[in-house]
Amino acid sequence: MDRDPECVFCNIVHGDGEAHIIYKDERVTAFLDIHPVNPGHTLVIPNVHAASIQDIPDDICGWMFVIGRDIDAGLRQSGLRSEAVNLYLADGRAAGQVVFHAHLHVIPRFPGDPSGLKLPAGPPGSPSPAELAEHARMLGSAFRAVRKSES
Ligand SMILES: [Zn+2]
Repeated sequence: MDRDPECVFCNIVHGDGEAHIIYKDERVTAFLDIHPVNPGHTLVIPNVHAASIQDIPDDICGWMFVIGRDIDAGLRQSGLRSEAVNLYLADGRAAGQVVFHAHLHVIPRFPGDPSGLKLPAGPPGSPSPAELAEHARMLGSAFRAVRKSES
């Protein structure tokens, strides 16, 4: 589906929602998150409705990252505090996705900022070399099957 009339992000793409749009082209739209982690926090979304990144065509998925990279560069020159940037995408509810129109967060960061966004080092008892090898075998096999089905 190109547009879900119930989707708040689709409405923004089509000009029916309130948003501070930073960039828009035929494939993607970038606009400020209304609940920013830090000022300047931007979302990059496909213009077509796609609940998951799995539903986004390759060229648009890649372009989202290109625009995210350039928003990153823009943030650092904007006067908004941004000494570093997190690019963050939650794919699925258990990963923290709340709006089910896929979106790439571009989050300005600086030392001591209040976001607390940081990946944990991992729990004690990290995987053994044998467990890592098994995980790599499982993922590698599944990944090759996915790539084969897409080619
Ligand atoms: Zn949508």
